[in-house]
Amino acid sequence: MPIIQIIHKFSISLTKYYIKVKRREYEIPDFSDYCPICSSSNCARFHGYYYRPVVTKEGMYYKDFPIMRYKCRNNGNKGLKHVTFSLLPHELIPYVKYSVEFIFKILFDIYVNDLSEKSALDIISQLCNEEVLSIGPVSVYNFKSLILNSIDKLNISGFYDEIKYLMNSPDRVKLFVLYLYEIHPVRAPSDYGYDFYKAHGFYKTNSPFLFGTPSQFRK
Ligand SMILES: [Zn+2]
Repeated sequence: MPIIQIIHKFSISLTKYYIKVKRREYEIPDFSDYCPICSSSNCARFHGYYYRPVVTKEGMYYKDFPIMRYKCRNNGNKGLKHVTFSLLPHELIPYVKYSVEFIFKILFDIYVNDLSEKSALDIISQLCNEEVLSIGPVSVYNFKSLILNSIDKLNISGFYDEIKYLMNSPDRVKLFVLYLYEIHPVRAPSDYGYDFYKAHGFYKTNSPFLFGTPSQFRK
């Protein structure tokens, strides 16, 4: 059964979400007005959770972070197979356990505070609980690749005119980190990703994600 990931902005932090869901206190978002898959009403129904690892911006590691799943019952598309969709909190990245803000925190220390990779990793390790300590230079390399990929997406989409200046610079990762923290400080990096998702049509058009690649765009 295919799964489609959509980004959802929950109104609480990842830690609060985790606690509330575990205690079954979190009110499940209602998609009865509009099914993200087939656009019809009274179709999408909550279908339980799947669990994935998550590292929050504070360095909390959860190996069983719950992600809500829904089933489209094909009210709007009788011919299609049943499809499920899941709600990825906007601070998270498909197939990456580190949250957006966690990644940016490390990149900020390296690029803006001019710390060595080792120092930046030492600092972050002190924040984290034990399971995250394995983070190393390969992780930093992957974080940079992820951000370069996001910058390419911004470039292709031509969406953000005001950051055109950094697109082809060899320092574009640094300039992008600076832009998000200092020039555009009101919105967290994950909010910026959410804006990108919304601006491209949200789930109604199966919008691309700024950070990472959701299941529906993977081969
Ligand atoms: Zn549906």
